[in-house]
Amino acid sequence: MTLKFIDEYRGARQVRQLADEIRRKTTRPWNIMEICGGQTNAILRFGLDELLPRELTLIHGPGCPVCVTPIEMIDRAVAIASRPDAIFCSFGDMLRVPGSEKDLLRVKSEGGDVRIVYSPMDAVGLARANPDRQVVFFAIGFETTAPANAMAVAQAARLGLENFSVLVSHVLVPPAIRAVLDSPHCVVQGFLAAGHVCTVMGTGDYLPIARQYHVPIVVTGFEPLDILRGVSMCVEQLEQGRAEVENAYGRCVRPEGNPAAMAQIDAVFETVDRKWRGIGLIPRSGWALGEAYRRFDAARRFGVEGIAADEPAECIAGEVLQGHRKPRDCPMFAGRCTPEHPLGAPMVSAEGACAAYHRYRRRAGTRETHE
Ligand code: SF4
Repeated sequence: MTLKFIDEYRGARQVRQLADEIRRKTTRPWNIMEICGGQTNAILRFGLDELLPRELTLIHGPGCPVCVTPIEMIDRAVAIASRPDAIFCSFGDMLRVPGSEKDLLRVKSEGGDVRIVYSPMDAVGLARANPDRQVVFFAIGFETTAPANAMAVAQAARLGLENFSVLVSHVLVPPAIRAVLDSPHCVVQGFLAAGHVCTVMGTGDYLPIARQYHVPIVVTGFEPLDILRGVSMCVEQLEQGRAEVENAYGRCVRPEGNPAAMAQIDAVFETVDRKWRGIGLIPRSGWALGEAYRRFDAARRFGVEGIAADEPAECIAGEVLQGHRKPRDCPMFAGRCTPEHPLGAPMVSAEGACAAYHRYRRRAGTRETHE
């Protein structure tokens, strides 16, 4: 069924040519992890893995920002959003991520003022328009969302907004790659790095990883052609025994990244240890507000820093996010856990592997991408 989607893609002919090229150059089994949930979604949607030789296994990585936000951060968001003086602002896909007892959508249905915004600057605007309310923005995501979130905080400081704050749960890709490689169960031999992250941060952070672990890392985009080009370059390196950082997304990514965006991040955030949902603490894998902007920290302002929670044992999201297990390996998949009634975040987010399998691979018989 998935194969019909690739024929609807305008670059279908070039995709099939690239798949043939990959087949010709693949001489033995290789495991390649795509980091980004957007890439996972495209692979499953267009059936790209089904076009590849059977020797090639694509493993899904932890790059879904909604999926890796820890459950206790949802509980903190719920506690703040339940306050009668708060306007809690978030991107829409965070509203259905389950906390320990409820999600933000439930808070909204119970009368909480939870609003979906499309930019952190919308929340700054709400703070200006509602000086008698506390406006809080849920600042989650990888390096891609951090510049705009940092800009919003800096703007709130310039405007002297005392009623604006951010609940920060930013995560970083390079430490996550190291965590995947350090796992005793790791079978990943090459990576497709996320093109949008590298558009912001450049490629420099990946050089020591490629050298230390001897793994090829290919910066890759999100269209089917981009993804297969990244796979092709990664296979070529693996077959030749090379482990280099290469860029298959040159139309967006420069080695130095976006210096203005990085300067904005550096001005507002500092690197901290961060807990990842289902995975646990990864050293120096996140950003929090630095000293100069700490007064905008919603967790401190509303005294919710101490809220801690354990992940539900029935959800194996951590195993899925590290590529150790497939969504269909989870006993809850498509039974007790569905997009309508999710038990874990990967079944909620548009970038979550469980949601993607539910949408495109629910039927048995279609090829698994991690065998
Ligand atoms: S199917 Fe549901 S319960 Fe299982 S790992 Fe995915 S999100 Fe968690």
